[in-house]
Amino acid sequence: MTSPGSPPLMKMRQRGPAAAMYVIDAVHYLDDKGDIAPKRGPARKLAEFVTSVIAHASDFDRPDGTSGPECFRCRKRDNRCVDTGMAEDDAVVWHCPACGTEGRISNWQGTFWDLSRSAPSD
Ligand SMILES: [Zn+2]
Repeated sequence: MTSPGSPPLMKMRQRGPAAAMYVIDAVHYLDDKGDIAPKRGPARKLAEFVTSVIAHASDFDRPDGTSGPECFRCRKRDNRCVDTGMAEDDAVVWHCPACGTEGRISNWQGTFWDLSRSAPSD
């Protein structure tokens, strides 16, 4: 029994090469003292990248053209510095032009890497 036009199995929503999207809560990467919690391994690498992105994105005084941190996923040597920015909901966002990885970081305010507070606001 086959019916014409039966729905395909579980269609993927994405088209083309899938770029990873990371949604990160900064608190999950910090210990009670506010330091980076993971001590080693891939989690540590990701945590260091996340904190670097926070510092870059929240440093409103940084000169234009200052490169962002190096993408933690890229194996390439060139052009792997990510772009960082602020989303409308105050999440820190990043995007890697080299591999297409992007992400959002929430709860970064008040961490050691939040440089927005030291910036003169007046
Ligand atoms: Zn990358």
